[in-house]
Amino acid sequence: MSYADLHLHTQFSDGTYSPEELVRQAERHGFSAMALTDHDTVEGCARCATACSEAKIEFIPGTELTAEQDGNELHILGYFIDTQSRELLVEVARFQNVRQNRIREMVDRLNQHHVPLEADAVFELAKCRSPGRPHVARALVQAGLCSSLDEAFERFLKKNRPAWVPKFKISASDAINLVHKAGGVAVLAHPGLNRCDEVIPGMVEAGLDGIECFHTKHSNATSEHYLNIANRFRLLITGGSDCHGTSKGRPLIGSVKLPYQHIEKLRARAQQRNRPVTVPATS
Ligand code: AMP
Ligand code: FE
Ligand code: FE
Ligand code: ZN
Repeated sequence: MSYADLHLHTQFSDGTYSPEELVRQAERHGFSAMALTDHDTVEGCARCATACSEAKIEFIPGTELTAEQDGNELHILGYFIDTQSRELLVEVARFQNVRQNRIREMVDRLNQHHVPLEADAVFELAKCRSPGRPHVARALVQAGLCSSLDEAFERFLKKNRPAWVPKFKISASDAINLVHKAGGVAVLAHPGLNRCDEVIPGMVEAGLDGIECFHTKHSNATSEHYLNIANRFRLLITGGSDCHGTSKGRPLIGSVKLPYQHIEKLRARAQQRNRPVTVPATS
């Protein structure tokens, strides 16, 4: 039996592993396929693809887009995307610009609260185009301004704390369309964490292809619940660990092993969508 992990992060968003370290971990766990799904970026995909090819692991280029529907934050996973797609690159550049401005705004708010952090310290540490709160938290610890990441979140960065700044999101249907324009398959990430099943029918209408039934934070009952929903709406089934490396204790990679048959169905969906339309010959 071969398995895949379709939800993984690296240093190119809020994970701690480099692409090469992540692939080494995937190899250690015996995965035959893996996807990289960094938030609002595809920056790590090229290095991950090279490392996977050396490790004889099938690589699926992916991303995890920050979206919203009816006031709920949702994450849309894109798989088998063309990481050179113009539309995709333009949109992730917009995300990244807003994320970088958000860092500056968080730092401004910290400074107003007499916490002398500099935005450049965050960018220097993050070394990626898609920085977020974890990088601010790490910079606060590195500068000796907080004693732990938890303290940084509790005192400053959590929702409604002094340095919290809301995140930019696109609509769920725009996220689904963007994944499709990049030739990919669009999947609703960890629905068990967002708990807004009422938005699923609208997303299916908008072209949602699949749902992440298996996730580290889904109980068996939650996975069963979403398998039933997948069945009802004829959605493809995916799963992944959502490993962010070592930032939150033990790395999660290995906690979800998706049977390979699901990858074949995802690929078939992507190929079906990208097949050129054949115009019937006129006589
Ligand atoms: P952002 O996308 O910039 O809003 O940051 C979200 C990231 O911050 C996610 O990876 C979360 O897991 C992480 N995060 C949220 N709350 C905490 C916390 N209390 N301690 C450590 N990380 C957290
Ligand atoms: Fe994350
Ligand atoms: Fe997510
Ligand atoms: Zn994730």
